[in-house]
Amino acid sequence: MRILVDTHTHTNVSTHALSTLLENIEAAKKKGLEMLVTTNHAPSLVDSAHIWHFTTIANLPKVINGLKHLAGAELNILDTNGNIDLPEWILKRMDVLIASIHDPVYMPKSIEEHTKTWLNVIKNPYVDILGHSGHPSYQYNHEVVIRAAKEADKCIEINNHSYLVREGSQEICREIALMCKKIGAKIVVSTDSHFCYDIGDFDVAVKMLEDIDFPEELIMNLNAERFINYIENKKGITLDFSKSVG
Ligand SMILES: [Zn+2]
Ligand SMILES: [Zn+2]
Repeated sequence: MRILVDTHTHTNVSTHALSTLLENIEAAKKKGLEMLVTTNHAPSLVDSAHIWHFTTIANLPKVINGLKHLAGAELNILDTNGNIDLPEWILKRMDVLIASIHDPVYMPKSIEEHTKTWLNVIKNPYVDILGHSGHPSYQYNHEVVIRAAKEADKCIEINNHSYLVREGSQEICREIALMCKKIGAKIVVSTDSHFCYDIGDFDVAVKMLEDIDFPEELIMNLNAERFINYIENKKGITLDFSKSVG
């Protein structure tokens, strides 16, 4: 199994990440990726990019130094109603939107409340990907949420970074992947890279997916063509790769 699109990466405008956009692009090219998605933190986290970052990155050509690049954001889920932290006029302009729970913004609640939260997030038409949902402090009813995600054509993220920094998430991520396999729900595999040398390093997540014999046809970011088709069909848009810089 070889993943050729990294759908969740940070640059140093999220201030606890360390690399520039161009360093990330060069690292992605060296790793042999076909496409990179930059998804910096939306404003509610302390290290977030300024809101203007999102309009600037959305205006870039979609080929940079020869690599396909999409402009995204990692939205913070604010409450059980599924509210998120960028205004609609910016959401409309972004290519890829991940919605994630981060503990400084949304404190752990009950399994029922986490389930309700994800179901409300899934109702948001702008959200494409449910980010790193395997955190042990934020357990939810996998079957209910993943069925709803499938129904709404959202992807469940399997996040390589979770294995490294979110202790206890390994077993939960495996259970989530098994549920996606059982239901036939789409996933993406990402690195959530905070340093350019982590881009394209999906090893731990890929090993888990291979262990459970996860079907490759459900992995939307297996290659650029598949991910582009997924985003275009879901959003009813055409991504324009005719303009390039660098
Ligand atoms: Zn995150
Ligand atoms: Zn992230």
